Amino acid sequence: MDRRQTRQIRVGDVPVGGGAPVSVQSMTTTKTADVGETLAQVYALKGAGADIVRITCNTVEAAQGLAEIVPRSPVPIIADIHFQYRLALAALEAGVDGLRLNPGNIRNEDHIKTVAREAKARGVPIRVGVNAGSLDKDLLAEYGGPVPEALVASAVKEIRYLEDVDFTDIKISVKHSHVPSMVASYRLLADTVDYPLHLGVTEAGPPPGGLIKSVAGIATLLLEGIGDTIRFSLTADPVEEAKAGRQLLEYLGLRERQGLDLIACPSCGRAEVDVIEVATRAQRQLEAANLPIQVAVMGCIVNGPGEAREADIGIAAGRGKGHLFIKGQVVRVVDEADMVDALLDEARKLVDEGVEARLAAADQAAREAAEAEAVALAEAQGDANQAARKRRAVADVAEG
Ligand code: SF4
Repeated sequence: MDRRQTRQIRVGDVPVGGGAPVSVQSMTTTKTADVGETLAQVYALKGAGADIVRITCNTVEAAQGLAEIVPRSPVPIIADIHFQYRLALAALEAGVDGLRLNPGNIRNEDHIKTVAREAKARGVPIRVGVNAGSLDKDLLAEYGGPVPEALVASAVKEIRYLEDVDFTDIKISVKHSHVPSMVASYRLLADTVDYPLHLGVTEAGPPPGGLIKSVAGIATLLLEGIGDTIRFSLTADPVEEAKAGRQLLEYLGLRERQGLDLIACPSCGRAEVDVIEVATRAQRQLEAANLPIQVAVMGCIVNGPGEAREADIGIAAGRGKGHLFIKGQVVRVVDEADMVDALLDEARKLVDEGVEARLAAADQAAREAAEAEAVALAEAQGDANQAARKRRAVADVAEG
């Protein structure tokens, strides 16, 4: 997809904007002064897919903690600053790779410029992080509420302060908890500036609602080419945020697949197994094996292999049997009780040996057995979805 052209900045060794891969961010929930706990969470977030981690810097002790965390972190660290500009200076002294300033609560122009000069001297970028919930009171009064125009005006005002001191290592967010307003704010911002944008739906809440809101807002913009780095703001373990962010980018084709993509049919009257139970068990075991492939779990051999032929590997149920397939081609038949184990075994071999080798090692009789089973099942089940009856009824109505 065409991506919006922006300037590029670097957060530590992670490029943001200017054609760089869209990066995933998350934020720790520990007390920053607790260096051990915070570092453990940073490592967990990196393991779940975070490229950059933000940490609050809300006290002197937190800034001191950052001084110990930053050199030991596996990813660039951004200090989150509200109200106290001196803590931004302290975070810079601690060696952070980026700052996030909230224009809604650091409003003194001289203070902002002092921070920008110091950040420039150290080559550290700043995110102008506008949030609908903490918008400057003057702007709220002027625009009558946290409308997209007010959020963008807040960002532009802050950017001008930074540009006044020749500071342009900027990325911007205009987060809103109302998805349509969030999307409109970013669209307006993208038309106004050429800085890279950090996307997020603020205060999205716990899953599943928080995930749905975040995906609705972030994916809409990414598919329009808008957005250079993302964060899911979930009321959940931040590992879930990082995982969700990474998965979204993989599903949209914006990052290479790092982990499992499990697809499964929704099940219907034709299903020969409990698809939910088998898919859940397969997901657990395949995730633990950490295999970067797309795996399909399909409830019946009648439609399964054909509908999931794009998957790297899959399994479809017959009567008491599981039919393993690779790229839609059936390669083995196993007992129903062994379906998940066989899937895991074949998935490992597929990753180690490749598609050609595993297709060459296929059990030649499996394909014929699957075809025969599909015919027998279709006959045994009859018109499970009553398609023929419905087609007749529709034709009757159409023909009067
Ligand atoms: S027809 Fe088969 S593969 Fe398709 S939803 Fe039903 S059980 Fe699943």
